[in-house]
Amino acid sequence: MITSTTGPQPADFADVRATNLAVVLRFVREHAPCSRADIAASTGLNKATVSSLVADLIDRRLVRETGLTENRVGRPATMLVLDGSPYAAIGVEINVDTVSAVATDLAGERLLTWRRSFSGGESVNQGVAGVGAIVRRVVSRMAKEERQVLGLAVAVPGLIDVQGTVRIAPNLGWHDADIGGDLAKALRDPGFPIQVDNDANLAALAEQRFGAHAGASDLVYLTGELGVGAGVILDGRLRRGGRGYSGEIGHVQLDPEGPACHCGRRGCLEAMAGIGAVLRRDPSPAEIQVEIEEVVRLARAGDAGTLATLGEVGRSLGQGVSILANLLNPEVVILGGYYVPLAPWLLPAVHEEVGSRVIASEAGGCQVVASTLGYDAAALGGAARVLDSVDSGRLPGGLSRIP
Ligand SMILES: [Zn+2]
Repeated sequence: MITSTTGPQPADFADVRATNLAVVLRFVREHAPCSRADIAASTGLNKATVSSLVADLIDRRLVRETGLTENRVGRPATMLVLDGSPYAAIGVEINVDTVSAVATDLAGERLLTWRRSFSGGESVNQGVAGVGAIVRRVVSRMAKEERQVLGLAVAVPGLIDVQGTVRIAPNLGWHDADIGGDLAKALRDPGFPIQVDNDANLAALAEQRFGAHAGASDLVYLTGELGVGAGVILDGRLRRGGRGYSGEIGHVQLDPEGPACHCGRRGCLEAMAGIGAVLRRDPSPAEIQVEIEEVVRLARAGDAGTLATLGEVGRSLGQGVSILANLLNPEVVILGGYYVPLAPWLLPAVHEEVGSRVIASEAGGCQVVASTLGYDAAALGGAARVLDSVDSGRLPGGLSRIP
C-alpha cells in the first residue's frame, strides 16, 4: 500500500504511532500496575487510541495484562505491567584487563553479570575476538531462556565519535577502530543493533536509570580508572558534543607545573587525581585492584602518608568537580570506578574544595557522592542505552503491520 511515491503522510502517521507507543510504554514502565484509563487520563491520548496502542504492545509482548483488577467506583479495570520476559538488553564494558557483560530484561532486572580477564591491550582484532566470544555466550544463554536480544551497547574507554568509531582508546592502544562493524562480522550479523560508546557516557546512563540518583535530569558521572572521564547528562539527556568528544575533564590542566600526563601535557586532572596519582606511579592494570585494597587498608589504619596522599588527590579532584559545577550546575556528581572504595577519604577534601570554589551558594545545589552501582556501571549502562532506544520508540517487531 505504501510506495516510494506516496507523500509524507503515511510515514508521519507511522512516526506518530511509534511515538505514542513509546509514550504508553514509558508510562507503564513508570506507573505499573496501571489501567488503560490511567494511561488515557495521564497522557491525554483518547481511550480508543490507548486501547489500540496497548493491544499493539501486548502483541509485541512488551506489556501484559495481570489478573489484578482495581475496584474503583465503576467498573473494575484490568491492570497492565511491563512484560519483557521474551527480551534481553546486553551491555559490555571493555577495560584494559577485563571485559564485563550485563544482560537485563525489559524492566531492567539483571539477568546475568559476567566478568572475564581480557587481553584487549594487544590488538583491535584480539580485542574484538575476546568481546565477540563473551557476547556469543551471553546471546546463547539468552536464547536458552527464549529471549530475543534487543541490542548490544559496548563501552570503550576512549574518544568515540558520534558514529561509534573508536578514534583513540589510549589505554587499549586502539585508534580509528570500527569495533561495532568488526563485532557484527565476528558475530555473523546477529540481527540486533550494536552500538559503541564512551565508558563514562554509558555509566552516566546507568546512574540515570538505575543509580541512587535515578531520574536526576542533571548528572555527571566521573570515571575513576587510570583515566578520568565525565559522562554528562543535562536536561535529562546525554550530551556528547559536536563530534562526540565531550567529557574529557581528565585533560583539563590544573597546574602547569604539575606531573606529566599520558597525553603529553602537564598537570592534567587525570595526572593529579587519577588512580596513578593515588598509587604515586603507573601501576600495571592487573595490579590496580590489589593496590587500591592496600591503600584502603593503610587509610583505615590511619597511615599518615596514605592519608596525606588521599587528601591531596581529593583536593585536586575537588578542583575538577568545581569546574564541572561552575560550568554545568549538575544536581549531582557521581564518583565511579576506584574512587568508590576511596570515597570516605577523598570526599571530605572534595567537598571542601567545591564549597570554596563554586561561585553559586551551596555549590549551586551540587552534591558529590560515590556510585552505588559497582565496577560494571558502564556495562549496565550499555543495557540502559538499549532500553533507552526501546523507550524512545525503536520497538522490537517493527511497524510493518501498521496500515
Ligand atoms: Zn592530559
